[in-house]
Amino acid sequence: MSIPVIDPATLETVATVADHGPGEARQAVDTAAAAFRDWSRTAPRRRSEVLHKAFELMLRDRDELALLISRENGKSLADATGEVTYAAEFLRWFAEEAVRPGGEYGSAPAGGARTLVSHRPVGVAALITPWNFPAAMVTRKIGPAIAAGCTAVLKPAAETPLTAIAIVELLVEAGLPDGVVTVVTTSDPASVVGTWLDDPRVRKISFTGSTPIGRILLRQAAERVVNSSMELGGNAPFVVTADADVEAAVAGAMIAKFRNGGQACTAANRFYVHDAVYDTFVARFGAEVEKLTVGAAADGAAIGPLINEKALVRVRAAVEETIAEGARISHRAADGPQTGWFYPPTVLADVPATAAILQEEIFGPVAPIARWTDEEELLTLVNDTEYGLAAYVFAGDLRQAVRIGEAIDAGMVGINRGLVSDPSAPFGGVKQSGLGREGAREGLREFQETQYLSVDWGL
Ligand code: ADP
Repeated sequence: MSIPVIDPATLETVATVADHGPGEARQAVDTAAAAFRDWSRTAPRRRSEVLHKAFELMLRDRDELALLISRENGKSLADATGEVTYAAEFLRWFAEEAVRPGGEYGSAPAGGARTLVSHRPVGVAALITPWNFPAAMVTRKIGPAIAAGCTAVLKPAAETPLTAIAIVELLVEAGLPDGVVTVVTTSDPASVVGTWLDDPRVRKISFTGSTPIGRILLRQAAERVVNSSMELGGNAPFVVTADADVEAAVAGAMIAKFRNGGQACTAANRFYVHDAVYDTFVARFGAEVEKLTVGAAADGAAIGPLINEKALVRVRAAVEETIAEGARISHRAADGPQTGWFYPPTVLADVPATAAILQEEIFGPVAPIARWTDEEELLTLVNDTEYGLAAYVFAGDLRQAVRIGEAIDAGMVGINRGLVSDPSAPFGGVKQSGLGREGAREGLREFQETQYLSVDWGL
């Protein structure tokens, strides 16, 4: 059995990969469990060197990897190249963290006992990644798992397995011992991941994907109290205040909205622009949006297709619904080719505060823009969502920017920046956007468990 990998721009089959089931899923855990003893005892410096070498190899192969990402995901070559660099940086960051597992030595307040605190690898980890960042979501999980001394089984999204396979091959070339990471490709994720969560040898799940699937996995993980990290959906507000530098806000909006064609959990999903600069912002942003070219990465287009037909139907319906609710299309880029799941970047102006699109994750190149005047009302609207991943604030007065930023229930807030992701920063959400953090020191801790020895040294 095999799964075709389809280029969403041309609908051509790029390659096929094996379609694995519960049997192979269990074998992958056998492999990871067997490799754990040696890998968890491998010197941190050695683990660090493997990661560092893999970082260099990813940069060596950057153009090739970018092409692969573009072919299976559809994103532009510029986005794909940026992703490879970003993905590689996780390997470098965790190479540097691997040699700093930390620990503590304490004395009991009453005297006598001494406490030795250490951070140990949690065990075999199940890693589940989505299709929207086929490289970065893999390295953001594999990097800390390897650095911590865990072994792993990895299930990439069926739409984009090729990049994951290529990255694991580079890790092996960099010296990663056999069996430390095994990739399992499948068209039936529920059976593979279910098998892993049932297996007592699997002690960790790290998942990036939608909130509904995250909920299912958390319920399954509860059975054996499996350590869980969840990076789930978002509904990022993009706030522009009355005294914001409109040109900077437009530049930030182009990144926050159109990186990856809007298919990012941190994508600006709803724009709240102050009445004083609303018309200027819409006109300037709209003019930039109209310049975007839509098409295949191979043709140098800025915006690629959506991942599949289902996504296209969903985005189209969301725009039609918003127009029925009173919004209007103020600006739109030229249509892309007929073949492929293309949707033209679209600006929706005069969006009512009650519009459904402001509550849904759009995951496409559509920017709905609402108007605001009162900061308190703005904050109520902004926080009226089950999500809390990212947010963006553009303001001239930095005090107001920080005040609004701190009042938003989100794990990450970009202040006068359209991009929040950074391997050295703890990426993650609050509310139903997730549990745990990826990147930074916290990202390593997600793959470690704290143990202490309470020692009577007879002192
Ligand atoms: P998206 O809507 O972005 O595709 P999903 O949450 O459906 O997000 O997918 C993210 C990852 O979760 C992918 O690797 C996918 O194969 C996997 N997945 C989807 N459904 C399930 C499930 N029932 N159990 C485990 N993994 C799943």
